[in-house]
Amino acid sequence: GRKTQKTILIMMSNTGGGHKASAEALQQAFREEYGDKYRVLIVDMWKEHTPSPFNRLCDSYSFLVKHGVLWRLTYGMMQPRLIHGPYFSAVQAFVARQLSCAFDAYDPDLVVSVHPLMQHIPVRVLAARAAETGAPPPPFATVVTDFTTCHNTWFYPGVTRCFVPTDYCRNLAVAMGVAADKIVTHGLPIRPIFSKRLPSKSALRSKLGMKKDPPAILLVGGGEGMGALEATVRELDARLGGAAQVAVICGRNRRLLERLRATVWPGGTHVAAVGFVDNVHEWMAAADTIITKAGPGTIAEALISGLPILLNGNVPCQEEGNIPYVVDNGVGAFETDPARIADIVAAWLDPANRAEFDAMSRRARALGRPRAVYNIARDLAAITEEGAAARAEAAAAGGGKAGGRAAA
Ligand code: UDP
Repeated sequence: GRKTQKTILIMMSNTGGGHKASAEALQQAFREEYGDKYRVLIVDMWKEHTPSPFNRLCDSYSFLVKHGVLWRLTYGMMQPRLIHGPYFSAVQAFVARQLSCAFDAYDPDLVVSVHPLMQHIPVRVLAARAAETGAPPPPFATVVTDFTTCHNTWFYPGVTRCFVPTDYCRNLAVAMGVAADKIVTHGLPIRPIFSKRLPSKSALRSKLGMKKDPPAILLVGGGEGMGALEATVRELDARLGGAAQVAVICGRNRRLLERLRATVWPGGTHVAAVGFVDNVHEWMAAADTIITKAGPGTIAEALISGLPILLNGNVPCQEEGNIPYVVDNGVGAFETDPARIADIVAAWLDPANRAEFDAMSRRARALGRPRAVYNIARDLAAITEEGAAARAEAAAAGGGKAGGRAAA
């Protein structure tokens, strides 16, 4: 019998939090728009469905990124297709069988990749399976989750569709040989909750334990840079004291959280510190400006929330382009030194500069793409249906998935 519920397999890998966040954003948009018409699965294919040592990709990434020079070399070396093409072909020999079994088990009607290392091999494995059964392979879409300087391995001409967040990425895709009519620019997929109406700022502030009036600076910290984050709070307290308040999302950094909670700030700044939270949207809506590293997800969320952005660091390579994106669009600044960060933010919040600060905030909101996740989900649903129709037709014509499976 024909399946009524179609399966969408989103392939991610936990290299940084952003890929997973994008996958979940798409899953939530599908649920909102289509209920249970689609079964949306999120799977770390490298970890779950490739043999050792390939299943430890995620650990290698964490190691390389911590040692910037190694990451720079690896990233740069793998940029030319002349290198990564043969590399993927060689790796494919080791991982193809297990990946193919995974595709058998999930039986997807659409495969979506939100990761730069999940185009070449999966597309070719799917094509090889299809050649065996005589049915067309399921459609394959890449959803790019880097804003600007994305790695060339994001782009593989053999995909059905390639969703990019910016024109900058579109140009990279074209340069890498992806046909222009396969590239769609909707924006970065951000969790649907960021496009919902929220309670008023003052209601949110009281819910989150913030003060009602003083302008609020939101600091978002990753696992790294504990010393710098603490120093930034200290410098803000020295400049602004009670004229501002600070909220710190410490993420998984428990020691930072404990230290911040144990500190009384001499300037009298109210500091609200939390660990890993699932309501970043509320903290952003309650804040006036944000200090964060140049993660694409956090930047896109801050733009939607209309927050001027002070970037205080970045992962080497893929996040470097996010800095000119923020600065050149007039929505923020880049500075790594805590004292100078505090100077910049203090100037932003100075009542004398109110007009320019408000203009920055308006430009941020105008750049934000809260509907992107819905637009991508809608397009993905459309190509799922087109793919299913093509495969049904092939099956009716004699070959095809159903026929192939029944005979097997
Ligand atoms: N995030 C979250 N709770 C936290 C801290 C972060 O939900 O306590 C989310 C944040 O909103 C963003 C993601 O984690 O969606 C981080 O993605 P980003 O692309 O900024 O950086 P990455 O971790 O990929 O380098």
